[in-house]
Amino acid sequence: MPTYKIAIVGAGPAGFFTAQAFQKTQHHELSFAIDMIERLPTPWGLVRSGVAPDHPKIKNVSKVFEKIAKEPNFRLFANIELGKDLSLKDLRDQYDVVVLATGAPKGRKLEIPGEELTNSLSASEFVPWYNAHPDFANLDVDLSSDTAVVIGAGNVAMDIARILAIEPKMLDPTDVAEHALVKLKQSNIRKVVITGRRGPEHAAFTAPELRDLKNLQNANIRMSKSEIEAAIYRSGSIPEKDLKSNLDTMLFIAEHTPTNYERTLQFQFLSTPKEIKGNGSVEEVVFTINKVENGKVIPTKQTFAIKAGLVITAIGYEALGYPGISIENGRINNIAGHIEHNVYTTGWAKRGPTGVIGTNKSDSSDVVELIVKNLKSPKISEGITVLLSSKHEVIDQLAWEKINASEVISGEIAGKPRVKVVDWKRLISLGRS
Ligand code: NAP
Repeated sequence: MPTYKIAIVGAGPAGFFTAQAFQKTQHHELSFAIDMIERLPTPWGLVRSGVAPDHPKIKNVSKVFEKIAKEPNFRLFANIELGKDLSLKDLRDQYDVVVLATGAPKGRKLEIPGEELTNSLSASEFVPWYNAHPDFANLDVDLSSDTAVVIGAGNVAMDIARILAIEPKMLDPTDVAEHALVKLKQSNIRKVVITGRRGPEHAAFTAPELRDLKNLQNANIRMSKSEIEAAIYRSGSIPEKDLKSNLDTMLFIAEHTPTNYERTLQFQFLSTPKEIKGNGSVEEVVFTINKVENGKVIPTKQTFAIKAGLVITAIGYEALGYPGISIENGRINNIAGHIEHNVYTTGWAKRGPTGVIGTNKSDSSDVVELIVKNLKSPKISEGITVLLSSKHEVIDQLAWEKINASEVISGEIAGKPRVKVVDWKRLISLGRS
């Protein structure tokens, strides 16, 4: 029976669903030996370092990942960086198939004056900071001002705004990073303004995220009723189902009896960021006011400013390239997941930063179907063992299970699902224990 060696780079949802698709494709005449390679000493990608800590149910998918990892044809090689510890050429030569499931870790830029000021942050820094990603533990986040602006009308912006507006005690029973919880408890931020450049009818929030706002106790949610009504009018009498659900939810929020809590989360639509002002650090964000004319969003000559000490940009992400791998429109250049020769891509790296975690399941399954169609005879090669120095400290599945168990035990003591270890060296030593 032919066994093909598969290298999957990236241990996030796209990587795991690719492994699962290979496992499901096996039959008595075809088998796969899957090696998953991950830069961090921990797997699970955005399920660990992206999903908001107050959304624990979304993280349940990690149980599926662990089941995939326990299959006999799966091996984890974490703490190994593509481009540093081994090259793409190495993988191409040693494996029958290489799948890049490396996501889109770079935050898109606004490209406006003042974006480089201190405390003007990207979602690609702030989200992993509050989720205990080892690379962002020391991010300098200053929460001493009373107002924060979040730019972007998508689910990532919503997560960030919620984390800033929530009463921090509500995060006690979550796996939020300890360093972030300490800072959030000391935060002076009492007003968070989340801004979209188009109207409510074009917002990229999904209805469950909007509906979830009612669980944000201790914060006033402010949306302009007239703005939502205008969006409903513009959307016509038979809006598409998801849009109707979004607008109905927004109208419900806008009509809700105003509360008078100390914290406020305010939505501001039709506002394009023009400039971030400040003397070294963020002090004010200037916006151009837009209007909708004949279904098109156009700028007016009017502007307004919000005084704020923190700006977080959540306007999408871009994939990273590797030598020989080019990026176009924020994703790896590919055709239906095929890059070149035996190299493929899946997930956000393939299609750009869109879709929820489950989207990666069908996406990866399609890519695996294509890969299987293109398979030739299996290579005679040794795989990853010849590529790594014997001194390299690999976190394999067993080592990861030790890290996982240690975090979960610390969590049980603290009344949390886990206490994430943020220090890279400590993670490795836990894996060794
Ligand atoms: P997104 O859904 O694409 O939203 C990006 C937002 O940024 C849009 O409102 C977009 O406005 C705006 N934007 C883009 N360029 C801009 C610019 N130059 N100036 C001002 N605004 C700009 O991206 P995301 O929020 O990063 O989310 C990525 C994916 O992850 C989405 O599919 C999302 O649903 C998913 N996600 C899901 C969850 C969940 O299910 N709980 C949580 C987080 C993320 P325009 O529409 O005008 O371009």
